[in-house]
Amino acid sequence: MSTQVTVIPGDGVGPECVAAARRIIDATEAKIDWDEQEAGETVFRRGVASGVPKDTIDSITRTRVVLKGPLGTPVGFGEKSANVTLRKLFETYANIRPVRELPGVSTRYSGSGVDLVVVRENVEDLYAGIEHMQTPGVAQCLKLISRKGSEKIARTAFEFARSEGRKSVTCATKSNIMKLTEGELKRTFEKVALEYPDIESRHVIIDNAAHQLVKRPEQFDVIVTTNMNGDILSDLTSALVGGLGFAPSANLGSGVAIFEAVHGSAPKYAGRDVINPTAVILSSVMMLKHLQFFDEAESIENALFATLQKGVLTGDVVGYDRGTSTSDFASAIIDNLGESVDGYTIRRGRPLAMPAPKPNPVTVVPETRRVVGVDVFVESGLMPDALGPQLEARVSDFSLRLKMISNRGTKVYPDGNTNIDVVDHYRCRFVQRDDGDVSRSLVRELLERIEGSVDWVHLELLQEFDGDAAYTKAQGED
Ligand code: NAP
Repeated sequence: MSTQVTVIPGDGVGPECVAAARRIIDATEAKIDWDEQEAGETVFRRGVASGVPKDTIDSITRTRVVLKGPLGTPVGFGEKSANVTLRKLFETYANIRPVRELPGVSTRYSGSGVDLVVVRENVEDLYAGIEHMQTPGVAQCLKLISRKGSEKIARTAFEFARSEGRKSVTCATKSNIMKLTEGELKRTFEKVALEYPDIESRHVIIDNAAHQLVKRPEQFDVIVTTNMNGDILSDLTSALVGGLGFAPSANLGSGVAIFEAVHGSAPKYAGRDVINPTAVILSSVMMLKHLQFFDEAESIENALFATLQKGVLTGDVVGYDRGTSTSDFASAIIDNLGESVDGYTIRRGRPLAMPAPKPNPVTVVPETRRVVGVDVFVESGLMPDALGPQLEARVSDFSLRLKMISNRGTKVYPDGNTNIDVVDHYRCRFVQRDDGDVSRSLVRELLERIEGSVDWVHLELLQEFDGDAAYTKAQGED
């Protein structure tokens, strides 16, 4: 019986790369039944705002497995990237991005044995795409990191390490600055690590991770990180082994799996039969392993290595005036099926056990919780020394007092930093005068009191869970 796979050729260089991968897979006689569907630019231009038509969604819902070319995001069409839409529609929360030193592809790291995997959280963080202009001149993007999401991605990283017989997992975050959001992944990772005593675990700050990756990449095995960090870091890691032309990826959830190159549609090379299809070919190898077509996957990977070692290289490696064409490169791999390269063994691995979703949205239940104040974000053209007294006057006889005002995170009132080049977006922190809980009606009364003096644009409750502050202080706040 054949296995059905949804195939999306995509935009720009996508169709050429996907055609190469399909020809090679078909040459192995893997029993795959391709269901070709569309997404991306052509769909946006037809007026489908998401860039993903219903037929494509229906196909993926049925097959659960997708081989996809890159999708362009034309400026002025649709609200969101069709790639991000697909990842979110099917909750593919883990993006696995392996890179490995390749025979015949010379880089400044050749000989160091780079063989590492970035496990990138794929649906949360700044990529939740929740953005607002708070004032006409101040934009905001919400960085959302959940315990549930962090647990799933940390567990995926350890499960992936186990499935491939890898030895260590490094968690890379910016928890030193973003203690609550990036810190959530760090803390959760450290807890989950206790369940995997067979795998070495450590945490590094993301900027040092970038530095160490360039300096001594061979020290890394599996790296787990948040969405934005992972996006940037995985382009860096692709450059360690020859560039984006060699970087595959898998978007995995507990149901659907989408396999695609890390790179985009590279429009300037579209239709020229010159692009390197290796990233999509290696993504299709990951797909075959996922489908447990281990022999076919191994055979393609070996043939690819043999092809590269023989010096059959595309223009990105040897120059576009001399490179092998995309279609000839695929033909060479087909000719080399059955060959292998000494010293390049294939990780057969075993199927990856993805953490299952938990239908309950509540993952953390504190024993105690309390609202101790509220941050009211206001739009104001006043300077801090004028704004502060005005607000204080509004609450002088009220149970909440103005504790401080900050501007882009730094305290500017009272006794604030006077070097700040302030913008018209202030955070005004109001706290209880006594130890009581701040009720929602008290917040409403506060807003009524300050309206007329300033325009509030956003608010955040200051909460304590189990006695711990669930908010951070401003720079310079006591
Ligand atoms: P890109 O398409 O990844 O191309 C950037 C550069 O990377 C290319 O100019 C080329 O470098 C190199 N490159 C990309 N693919 C290559 C390959 N197969 N072989 C060799 N070199 C390759 O990034 P972009 O130009 O920023 O984005 C173009 C479009 O793709 C945008 O609409 C973007 O939204 C979309 N995109 C889609 C995905 C996806 O579908 N998952 C991912 C990223 C971007 P040189 O110029 O040095 O030759």
